[in-house]
Amino acid sequence: MSTTYTRPTVFQTKLFINNEFVDGVKKTTIPVINPATEEKITDIAEATERDVELAIDAAKAAYPKWHATSLRERSMLLYKLAELIERDFTTLVSLESLDNGKPIEGSEADIREVINNLRYFAGWADKVTGKTYASQTETLFYTRREPFGVVGLISPWNFPLLMCEWKFAPALAAGNCVVHKPSEETPLTILWLCRLFKEAGFPAGVYNCVPGYGPIAGETLARSHRVSKISFTGSTVVGRKIMEASSQTNLKKVTLELGGKTPVIVCPDGDLDMAVNLAWNAIMYNMGQCCIAGSRVFVHESIYQEFVNRLKAIESKVTIGCAFTGANHGPQVNQTQMNKILGYFDHAKNVEKLECIMGGERWGTKGYFIKPTVYINVDDNSKLAQEEIFGPVLCILKPWKTIEEVIERANNTKYGLAGVVITKNMSLSDKLVRELQAGTIFVNTYCIPQSFIPFGGYKESGFGRDNGEEAILEYTQVKAVYYQL
Ligand code: NAD
Repeated sequence: MSTTYTRPTVFQTKLFINNEFVDGVKKTTIPVINPATEEKITDIAEATERDVELAIDAAKAAYPKWHATSLRERSMLLYKLAELIERDFTTLVSLESLDNGKPIEGSEADIREVINNLRYFAGWADKVTGKTYASQTETLFYTRREPFGVVGLISPWNFPLLMCEWKFAPALAAGNCVVHKPSEETPLTILWLCRLFKEAGFPAGVYNCVPGYGPIAGETLARSHRVSKISFTGSTVVGRKIMEASSQTNLKKVTLELGGKTPVIVCPDGDLDMAVNLAWNAIMYNMGQCCIAGSRVFVHESIYQEFVNRLKAIESKVTIGCAFTGANHGPQVNQTQMNKILGYFDHAKNVEKLECIMGGERWGTKGYFIKPTVYINVDDNSKLAQEEIFGPVLCILKPWKTIEEVIERANNTKYGLAGVVITKNMSLSDKLVRELQAGTIFVNTYCIPQSFIPFGGYKESGFGRDNGEEAILEYTQVKAVYYQL
């Protein structure tokens, strides 16, 4: 951390509709809480049903103009937005850490990735193509990929700005207008970005931002017959509600990026130090609040005890506290999340009587801090091994003996977002890559998903893909043309 970051004092707090900053029609507000201190940072305007409708009006009115905007101009506007984010980098990093609680290094990595990803999709604006088909008659057969019109985006709080950008960048590059409901828990960076949309010169109504509560603003968006597509990232429980609401009016297209319970499989030939560090980072990064968090570790019986010993030694490197003190482990995002995790600790101790080798409790009495926690010898069907805890809580499951056994055990989950494999043996890794039921497999590595690689889930982790060309396909529909020459 070379730059000195301080707590920001200026906030953008209004809804952003038709390039105007406005209060909600009901003039109600949502408090934004600093999770490290439990103090109120500010209040933001709350979007309710009518505000979402007004944002849809604006997006619908803007669509013909945006659709007609040259591809190069669309691309240049997205590049300009990336440039402005780069200019405001320090402010955005500070806002993200203040609002979400994540360590400064985490916010820096996220905002850098927002810029990279935005540039990646800016480059796509003039590269959306259809196909032509072989024909022996005088008929030309071809396809066009066309935007949907107005798309609704609903995003979570764990990577606040990045999860927003993953959606609005390909949606806009593909020619859609956007109504976006970010998480009400962490609205500060996306609201700041609204200023940058305006400054970059995006036409009014192309991007609209309506933070509000999920069951009110989110559901209005998901239900609206004037929205043609919804892209949602969040929990599997809410994903089901989005599908239901989406099907009740116009049967809109849906992309769902949902929860996960990533298995980390450590094979006996793997580099043990690398395996230990990787397993630690895979669960503790972002305080466990990652959809791909490696929350279930499967270690071969021959190295089990040594793995546990080395993992325990990492605990001394953890510094817990507020991001602005340079700590590397921050609070959970809010009190509800903290209490949910404490509930799992209670269950582990009093019901399942799990063996806890570190943590298992809150840190301090102010702020929503949870100590990094590790349970060992956990049964596969334990509540903690099956449910998405979304906290810094690692279950090292009972040791495994054979590869067939560990594959079956790793797949014993309703989720299928990611899997991690640690081995130097290529035929073994190839077998695991093929047999693990997940949308992303990391072999001897673990990182933030890359812009150019499709990202999404198998099973109840959702369907559709963010990132890569697949994301552009998600925001376009195919028109087939039969053209008699
Ligand atoms: P959440 O499901 O509670 O909320 C996500 C968004 O949905 C928020 O904006 C919320 O306001 C909104 N919402 C809530 N109820 C709604 C309703 N009835 N109708 C419409 N919108 C509604 O999720 P969260 O707690 O913000 O985020 C954590 C979850 O997100 C975890 O399960 C995590 O795994 C998942 N996640 C998945 C990915 C992925 O790419 N697969 C990435 C990040 C997070």
